[in-house]
Amino acid sequence: MSDLETFRTETRAWLEANCPPEMREPVRDEEDVYWGGRNASFKSDAQKAWFEACLAKGYTVPAWPKDYGGAGLNPAEAKVLRQEMSRINARPPLSSFGIWMLGPALLHFGTEGQKQRFLNEIARGEIRWCQGYSEPGSGSDLVSLQTYGEDKGDHWVVNGQKVWTSYADKCDWIFCLVRTDKTNKYQGITFMLFDMASEGVSTKPIKLISGNSPFCETFMEDVSVPKSYGEDVPAYVGEINRGWDVAKYLLGHEREMISGAGGGDRTAAIGAAMKRHAAKAGDEIDPVLRAELAMFDVDALAYAAMGEKFLDEIKVGKAHPAQPNMMKYVGTELNKRRHELMMATGGSRALEWESDETDGGKPSRNWLRTKANSIEGGTSEVMLNVISKRILDLPGS
Ligand SMILES: Cc1cc2nc3c(=O)[nH]c(=O)nc-3n(C[C@H](O)[C@H](O)[C@H](O)COP(=O)(O)OP(=O)(O)OC[C@H]3O[C@@H](n4cnc5c(N)ncnc54)[C@H](O)[C@@H]3O)c2cc1C
Repeated sequence: MSDLETFRTETRAWLEANCPPEMREPVRDEEDVYWGGRNASFKSDAQKAWFEACLAKGYTVPAWPKDYGGAGLNPAEAKVLRQEMSRINARPPLSSFGIWMLGPALLHFGTEGQKQRFLNEIARGEIRWCQGYSEPGSGSDLVSLQTYGEDKGDHWVVNGQKVWTSYADKCDWIFCLVRTDKTNKYQGITFMLFDMASEGVSTKPIKLISGNSPFCETFMEDVSVPKSYGEDVPAYVGEINRGWDVAKYLLGHEREMISGAGGGDRTAAIGAAMKRHAAKAGDEIDPVLRAELAMFDVDALAYAAMGEKFLDEIKVGKAHPAQPNMMKYVGTELNKRRHELMMATGGSRALEWESDETDGGKPSRNWLRTKANSIEGGTSEVMLNVISKRILDLPGS
């Protein structure tokens, strides 16, 4: 048996022994997701047991080095773990912007001191991070951001406003883009890290069409950000005034995460599921809708295959740097289509908003949430611009 086959057998046995049945159920809503953080609590004993088992094994961040809280899996082993978790529908033990966004940026640009401190905190789920990029007037055109950090020698005094900051009111720390040189657009931004409990930071939740409030306006009024948190732990990632490079690198990881690439074929084959669902409810599915479901299944399976190829290419350093934009565009448009079809199959009953039967209108609220997929992390229009320019090499305007 090859080493990889042995690893698969051992992983399968470990998952069987450690992943509670409840953690193999599909995630229904936010409460099913464990985000960690200073104020975190577990929804159930099963969620706690699953998180703790993974933490002990380094499986909250399996591909990170062991020194930084990971399991040090190589790309092939990480893929096997992903496949085996997908096979039993295991939920991620820990979800966080630290894992998906800040972590990869720190692994690439961070100092050893930053990696030791922040990556380990992220892997252990101790600190929950939010992302301070967008501002009123600076979303797609992010580089026009105005939040300003005035240099006071050993610290900055930061003033400004961020918007759409997901979970800012629940997060412990923020990675934040701050202008530190007003005379240089691209090379005048610093990628700062600071505590949301700092004096002068406040948040105001924004309500969504779905009724939920997952994001906030974030205000910074004379916030003092020290330049260093100790030896080899600067309060900024990369170099001062060169945060735009870090920001762009991180966006690639964010887009990859939002795209759902590597989620296997879990999003595929909704056609059969919908047919079963409709049959139970005694409905006949309209032939046109049935054809749309079949087309969706084919596209979703093709996307799953494309995702696998993309991840393999990343691991061997052969992915086009702009490819996450393509994955983000296709993945999010597909997810929107998936929820549209689920609503269409459910008929007018699916629009129900409050009853116990739908657990407070989960299907319709989830459907409305997907509308944001093609906006967050960069809009579909902007993704298409990037694909045209950087992948297809089409002339710009
Ligand atoms: C659910 C959700 C969570 C988010 N979480 C965060 C977060 O945690 N942190 C954070 O910093 N931000 C977050 N955002 C903000 C997100 O990154 C921005 O909404 C996004 O970048 C778009 O910016 P904007 O809203 O300012 O829209 P705008 O940039 O004002 O765009 C408005 C419209 O114009 C179009 N457009 C703009 N420029 C072009 C162009 N050059 N070519 C063609 N069309 C164009 C856009 O596609 C869009 O349709 C979140 C957004 C959502 C929806």
